[in-house]
Amino acid sequence: MECPVCREPLIVAEREGIELDVCPWCHGLWFDAGELALLAEKLGRTLAAPEGAPPEAAPTSEKPRLCPRCDKAMEKVALGARPKVLLDRCASHGLWFDHGELGSLVGQLSASGGSHHEAVTTFMGETIGASGAPPPDGAGEPAGEVKR
Ligand SMILES: [Zn+2]
Ligand SMILES: [Zn+2]
Repeated sequence: MECPVCREPLIVAEREGIELDVCPWCHGLWFDAGELALLAEKLGRTLAAPEGAPPEAAPTSEKPRLCPRCDKAMEKVALGARPKVLLDRCASHGLWFDHGELGSLVGQLSASGGSHHEAVTTFMGETIGASGAPPPDGAGEPAGEVKR
């Protein structure tokens, strides 16, 4: 499969039984429909309808992206509340998350859901190498001599 953004081959990454396709260039993530359901199960809730409502169709100026499975234009859907996360969805195949979008959504779920946060953060970090910001330059250096 190709990244819908870069058109580069996606890399398959498997974590905790969930298979993801990750773009090494833009760090976007593709979830097949079934894999997303598995993740939602691990989170203890459904990602597709966080508040019992179906995902909204989201009008946007972003260009439609093509489903990596069927090459048809995906629809934009908005999930979450504050802020809304704009995703690309192929109704038949799955969801595309731009880099950071899944983290933002999971952050919202965790804020209200509690205990799954750590597991999910770990999962995310291992999967896409996104476990927090890189340390600033020289952060590990001693600031100066400390006299006792
Ligand atoms: Zn990409
Ligand atoms: Zn498709």
